[in-house]
Amino acid sequence: MLEDVISPDGNLVDNLLELSDGDIVSKARPNKCKRCGGVKILGIEIMGAYDGILFWECDICENTILRFKKENTEKYLENAKGLWTNPSDWGYVKPSEFN
Ligand SMILES: [Zn+2]
Repeated sequence: MLEDVISPDGNLVDNLLELSDGDIVSKARPNKCKRCGGVKILGIEIMGAYDGILFWECDICENTILRFKKENTEKYLENAKGLWTNPSDWGYVKPSEFN
């Protein structure tokens, strides 16, 4: 999930904000999606970023509705950045080189 909100150059919520309703912040779960009118709104938690729902996402069109102001959402996502690892960075050790 974190991969979905981090762009390859490390800008955390650019992708997220592109999908979102701009500066609209909804502390409580929205009743419906402003974009498509869908009523199934999911609460998205990001492990390591924030203990609880960080933002909302429409289950139909994936429109994102921020729960916190953009600056704060970015700050929370920064928390998770250090925890995120890319499996291709782990390296590969041949079995013959095992200790
Ligand atoms: Zn929608």
